[in-house]
Amino acid sequence: MSDLEFDVVVIGAGPAGYPAAIRAAQNGLHTAIVDNWRNRDGTASLGGTCLNAGCIPSKALLESSELYHRAETEFAKHGIGVGSVALDIETMQARKQGIVKQLTGGIGALLKSNGVTAFEGHGRLLDGRRVSVTGERGDTQSLVAKHVVIATGSVPIELSAAPFDGEAIVDSWGALDFDSVPERLGVIGAGVIGLELGSVWRRLGADVVLLEALDTLLPMVDAQVSKEAARQFARQGLAIRLGARVTQATARDGGVDVSYEVNGERESLTVDKLVVCVGRRPLTADLIGEGVALAIDERGFVVVDEQCKTNLPGVWAIGDVVRGPMLAHKGTEEGVMVADLIAGKYAEVNYGVMPSVIYTAPEIAWVGKTEAELTAAGVDFKSGTFSFGANGRAKGMEQADGLVKLLASDEDDELLGVHIIGPVAGELIAEAVLAMEFSASSEDLQRTVHAHPTLSEAVHEAALAVDKRAIHAINR
Ligand code: FAD
Ligand code: NAD
Repeated sequence: MSDLEFDVVVIGAGPAGYPAAIRAAQNGLHTAIVDNWRNRDGTASLGGTCLNAGCIPSKALLESSELYHRAETEFAKHGIGVGSVALDIETMQARKQGIVKQLTGGIGALLKSNGVTAFEGHGRLLDGRRVSVTGERGDTQSLVAKHVVIATGSVPIELSAAPFDGEAIVDSWGALDFDSVPERLGVIGAGVIGLELGSVWRRLGADVVLLEALDTLLPMVDAQVSKEAARQFARQGLAIRLGARVTQATARDGGVDVSYEVNGERESLTVDKLVVCVGRRPLTADLIGEGVALAIDERGFVVVDEQCKTNLPGVWAIGDVVRGPMLAHKGTEEGVMVADLIAGKYAEVNYGVMPSVIYTAPEIAWVGKTEAELTAAGVDFKSGTFSFGANGRAKGMEQADGLVKLLASDEDDELLGVHIIGPVAGELIAEAVLAMEFSASSEDLQRTVHAHPTLSEAVHEAALAVDKRAIHAINR
């Protein structure tokens, strides 16, 4: 069998791999992409975890469930009577699936229009930058490339105390596909997925208990933001048990018995469904052929440098399968960088300005350093905080919980971190990301005109508060 020759072969068509392929093709490189994603019904689909079972379906359900919850609890305050609000979960799930189908189909069209050749099947990296592609029926094709980009992503971590059975004990994908609202939902892990999916099912009526091993909620988040988040989640009825170690989960009679320990005390819980979301691990299963000495670290990540080069010449790796936060946009930026570097262009990823967003209500978003990180690093900083309670737009939206906090260098006023909990924080953070990308100071934000009345005025006021010049707050 003769090899099909390409300049670039990308393995994996998630948010890291497909942008890499598109940019490589835009750069005039003869490019192929190989993907083995299978939906639960056996159909192939592009877009990886993000589009099929992650970012996109979760945000669709977060939106639907938030609307349902607000219709039930908030409309009356606006003077709108809707009688009893009915829930049609089948329609809600169909809408979600429709969005997934449209977006994943769109990727096929984008690849095609950019001239990328797509192969459906399992890719394996062989010697000499050859990639074998094995289709569902065992048929094999052989590709050879000047450059291979590994973008195989990640999979959920399974707990031996609570193994997935796909019915009662499920991973995040399973929890996105429930066809009815569980009366009692258990969630192991109060991380990003636990809080987002816990919120979805809580809003739709489930009693939700989250068991979190750590003693702190969201330790990576600014402490004031995390405290406010804990307060809001408790108000919403999300029961979060910190310091909980799950010892056993057993599915029986359509439910799950969960045993766990808190401070050495044994506790138990019975739920209808249990979601295990305790993190994800890099996916390199059956990826590397015999004799290919690709360096993998002790946690299973493909080892790369700042430019995503592996130890093998012409072999690159990007996205969840390499170090750094497991975020779709981080993988995308790496993919685009690698494709530009391959084409001989200048490119880099500014990892110091990588935004994070948790799509709960209120949303939580941040970029740069936290107070704790700056203090630990011995950096002198000043801070400004502004509450959405004093923001007219937030009041009008009936979403005035939360705050914006800006941290700036004491020495030269450069922005070092921005932390937001509040309405559409995930959108508001973009201004902070742009400002930090351009090494802006808090004064730069202070001197930037913000439209009135907008939520972004809270960012403006927080910047003013850094120098105790906020207009709509008492400066302390
Ligand atoms: P993936 O998206 O996992 O794609 C890898 C692709 O490679 C898959 O299609 C896989 O089938 C294929 N593949 C693997 N091995 C092979 C092989 N040997 N041959 C061929 N193909 C192969 N991130 C955010 O930034 N924002 C969010 O809101 C967000 N929400 C999320 C919600 C959930 C429920 C989950 C689970 C994740 C979420 N994430 C979010 C994380 C995000 O989905 C990942 O960071 C992102 O998908 C990683 O992209 P990737 O391209 O590296 O890998
Ligand atoms: P995570 O790391 O965010 O949270 C996992 C949580 O589980 C942590 O709080 C951890 O302390 C806890 N935990 C670990 N082992 C445990 C155990 N045995 N018992 C109880 N708790 C335990 O991971 P995740 O929520 O599974 O998400 C996976 C990845 O997907 C993350 O890297 C996340 O960034 C990404 N993601 C991002 C978004 C977003 O950007 N909005 C949304 C969903 C997922």
